[in-house]
Amino acid sequence: MAKGKLLVVSGPSGVGKGTICNQILSADSNIMFSVSMTTRNPREGEVDAVNYFFTDKESFEKLLAEGGLLEHNCYCGNYYGTPRKQVEAWLEEGKDVMLEIDFNGAFQIRESYPECVMIFILPPSMEALRSRIEGRGTENEETIQKRLDEAATEMSHADEYDYRVVNDNLEDAIKQVQDIIDKERNN
Ligand code: 5GP
Repeated sequence: MAKGKLLVVSGPSGVGKGTICNQILSADSNIMFSVSMTTRNPREGEVDAVNYFFTDKESFEKLLAEGGLLEHNCYCGNYYGTPRKQVEAWLEEGKDVMLEIDFNGAFQIRESYPECVMIFILPPSMEALRSRIEGRGTENEETIQKRLDEAATEMSHADEYDYRVVNDNLEDAIKQVQDIIDKERNN
């Protein structure tokens, strides 16, 4: 059986990539979402094993040492990583797997899966991004500034991705990502 496609989606925090990914996942039952592991605290409304596997530093480092992560990164003082087992199992079953991870993780994935499809979601402008992060209302000013600094770094790598999609209009952005996935499946 043909292996599934590994779809890597990145973009700065607050760009709306979560919303785009969720819409695509709910419309396409052959795409599975890889739930990442993180040591950051859950935001209000986030559910363990749905949004992330929330864990502590010791457990994260143990899994990392055992080779249980496909990639990992430290972002704003917290660890984030992709658990290996489930992703590999889904790909073997012929399911496509979506990873929503940062550029650091994306490039680690490309090392082990050169055939992965890398998509970068861009905001229409930095001002738009700031107002989205502020509008979320879950972060204090210091964290917002840190996330904006990280966003600038993240965006400087957009050109290294296979595809770039600007999230100006949500419906258009979803359609563009869907079209990319369809095209890659037919390759
Ligand atoms: P947030 O704290 O806003 O949920 O995520 C912060 C950043 O970490 C985002 O850019 C997100 O894409 C990235 N991220 C989430 N999960 C992973 C992961 O498993 N690995 C890596 N490398 N980055 C991740």
